[in-house]
Amino acid sequence: MTSIVVLGSTNMDLVAYVKRAPARGETVTGRSFRTVPGGKGANQAVAAARAGGEVAMIGAVGSDDFGHRLRDVLEHCSVDTDLLRTVEGPSGTAHIVVDEEGGNAIVVVPGANGSVTSLSRGDEALISGADLLLLQLELPLSVVVDGAAHARGQGVRTVLTPAPAQPLPPELFDLTDLLVPNEHEATALTGRTDPHAAALALLEAVPEVVVTLGAAGCLYAARGAELLTVPAPRVRAVDTTAAGDTFVGALAVALGEGRPAPEALAWAGTAAALSVRREGASTSMPYRTEIEAALGTPPSLEAD
Ligand code: AMP
Repeated sequence: MTSIVVLGSTNMDLVAYVKRAPARGETVTGRSFRTVPGGKGANQAVAAARAGGEVAMIGAVGSDDFGHRLRDVLEHCSVDTDLLRTVEGPSGTAHIVVDEEGGNAIVVVPGANGSVTSLSRGDEALISGADLLLLQLELPLSVVVDGAAHARGQGVRTVLTPAPAQPLPPELFDLTDLLVPNEHEATALTGRTDPHAAALALLEAVPEVVVTLGAAGCLYAARGAELLTVPAPRVRAVDTTAAGDTFVGALAVALGEGRPAPEALAWAGTAAALSVRREGASTSMPYRTEIEAALGTPPSLEAD
């Protein structure tokens, strides 16, 4: 079983479903509202656990009701939360508007995530024993760098999702084995709007890059290899909220199992496609058996 540690955020997603997102200064009436446990870190942890990984999460929840729910969900999904702290104050929240076409706009308020500023001995020991460390940018940048540095020192593969988009310190690029930006993040990091050009530019900073391209699939670039485009299965998108996190979680499991990149990317793309057909973040993520079944019979994805 692939052993994965996620050093990342937990957020309660407060999701409003609307016909179209409001413009500045405008009020629109929503169709429905849900609270959905999320956060990029927790989402990747759940995606990896459902895809068949053995997953532990390092991060923090608040002492509020959301914190209890966030921890419960991770535990229910068999994610090890022994090193998930509970800190006084509010949990992280993400305020999400999902429109009729499945597109989204998100405001994240870090809450408890902001308290994770250093790694304990226990955190470091956990990372040392993993096959892969998954990182995102919803915890303080300094602890993300510390985690990546510790993993690198122990020969643990680091996978960084550079979201939310922001400039990265050069040392974090140096400590990243696989970078997985979406198109927007790839452009923000490189100034290149063409994903091929962005991927090639990023390859100067990290050895492997996957640029996710939404319904168009993804682009894989590795030093010394041809650029590879992996199309996504065609599905009717209902909610793309955690598609990228589902993709990364499933990708980590496949890579840890030693699958070659094209196969691992097809597996991850199938997992992500399955997730966009359902509403919600972690609740929409497929289990290993569903991914295997869909890979075996891709047309079944289109039948829905
Ligand atoms: P994104 O973060 O939008 O680039 O999406 C991440 C991954 O999720 C993509 O690389 C696809 O594999 C998958 N994905 C996202 N949106 C769709 C969609 N509408 N149909 C199928 N797959 C999707």
